[in-house]
Amino acid sequence: MNENYKKIDKDDINFFKSFIEEKRLFVKDNISEDYSHDELGGIKNYPDILIKVISTEEVSKIMKHAYKNNIPIVARGSGTGLVGASVPIYGGIMIDTTLMNHIIEIDDENLTVTVEPGVLLMELSKFVEEHDLFYPPDPGEKSATLGGNISTNAGGMRAVKYGTTRDYVRGLTVVLPTGEIIELGGKVVKNSSGYSLKDLIIGSEGTLCIITKAVLKLLPLPKKSISLLVPFNDIGKAIDTVPKIIKSKAIPTAIEFMDRNIILFSEDYLGKKFPDNKYDAYILLTFDGNSKEQVEAEYETVANLCLQEGAEDVYIVDTDERKESVWSARGAFLEAIKASTTELDECDVVVPRNKVAEFIKYTHEVSKELNIRIPSFGHAGDGNLHIYVCKDDMDDKTWNDKLLVAFDKLYKKSEEFNGLVSGEHGIGYAKRKYMHKQYGTTQVELMNKIKLAFDPKNILNPGKVCQ
Ligand SMILES: Cc1cc2nc3c(=O)[nH]c(=O)nc-3n(C[C@H](O)[C@H](O)[C@H](O)COP(=O)(O)OP(=O)(O)OC[C@H]3O[C@@H](n4cnc5c(N)ncnc54)[C@H](O)[C@@H]3O)c2cc1C
Repeated sequence: MNENYKKIDKDDINFFKSFIEEKRLFVKDNISEDYSHDELGGIKNYPDILIKVISTEEVSKIMKHAYKNNIPIVARGSGTGLVGASVPIYGGIMIDTTLMNHIIEIDDENLTVTVEPGVLLMELSKFVEEHDLFYPPDPGEKSATLGGNISTNAGGMRAVKYGTTRDYVRGLTVVLPTGEIIELGGKVVKNSSGYSLKDLIIGSEGTLCIITKAVLKLLPLPKKSISLLVPFNDIGKAIDTVPKIIKSKAIPTAIEFMDRNIILFSEDYLGKKFPDNKYDAYILLTFDGNSKEQVEAEYETVANLCLQEGAEDVYIVDTDERKESVWSARGAFLEAIKASTTELDECDVVVPRNKVAEFIKYTHEVSKELNIRIPSFGHAGDGNLHIYVCKDDMDDKTWNDKLLVAFDKLYKKSEEFNGLVSGEHGIGYAKRKYMHKQYGTTQVELMNKIKLAFDPKNILNPGKVCQ
């Protein structure tokens, strides 16, 4: 790999100044600290120049210059990533897409919406719902951009029924590292026309090209949605119920699990009470559909099944107030855990759904063995767990040593269960070692060859994913 990149100098800055307004261009000390890290915070480096772009043509012009002069370049959306993927570890140029935040078109004949990459997930959801339409991907962090969501193949709560971001990307406009602009896919529903380059780009964490426009699939907005909060006196029993719900052929929109500690953290963090916190563990389910009768029939079967499996009760969350209290608490879990400790790192493994309970039990064993706090919650319905190893009052050396041992154990166990390193947060910089270990040389080399086919000079987000 060529890592002898050119340092940004006066000539480069003058070139960018020739077509970028001053208020959108930041150099060295004028770059805010926020741009030196992502949401997890452990991996840090500043870009040498930050440019807030407003068009595909601008991205292309910047990229051509970077390519010609061998300058590293990285795209950044809202910086809510959790694996250091948007951190410019070799410095160079950072392209901030948040001013490319226009919803270009809603097409109700093809049920698509066309967006610029800096549109925020929460803005898109609100906009399409006003048109009685629905964009199902629902990752926890609603202030992330669509460009970031596509680049990480973001998942979220509704993946059980509706799938992940990949399932909703019909077309992309992208700028290649050479500066060339290409269109992939489109508004078509089917596509069997050669290798799907579009699908390679989804989840590639900004290493292959920069996305400047996306055509996304929409669905009609379900008319009714109800959640159930189901308390259990034992986390194992709660999670063991999930494969049985799946087996019953019910299709909830979401199945989340949480234990009492997480609820208490979240109550503290938000200063708001959860509807119930007496029991050791809870599963939270949502059902949606077009009529009250249809949704009720579905949730009644599941409610009865949960009671048969040892649930202590079933609370129906149907008023706006209750929905807000439950889902705002669920949305704040990561922030609440973060607020409860001095530093943390996350393991975002995905395992087969019938292995979730065993995996969580294993995290408790590791926690005990290493005397380290490991709270967790997650998407029980799709087997994706969010496990947080917390530093608390450990000194740096003890923390680094224990974190390494804990992660080695957790990723090894996930492999034993035929799980994978990341369900939705990606590999970025922080999780490369674990992906490389699991996939082995052949797969990682294939990925590297794909990377170099797109980016022969290795200037785009170098040092990430497969490198
Ligand atoms: C509280 C919290 C909850 C979260 N919950 C979830 C969840 O439920 N599910 C989930 O999947 N994730 C979740 N995340 C992680 C994060 O929000 C997602 O990874 C999100 O997709 C990142 O979007 P972003 O705009 O912040 O991208 P950034 O963090 O800025 O960038 C992420 C990656 O995408 C690349 N990128 C960004 N824009 C472009 C572009 N236009 N072209 C090419 N590459 C680009 C970057 O280079 C980087 O590699 C959560 C994060 C937090 C803090």
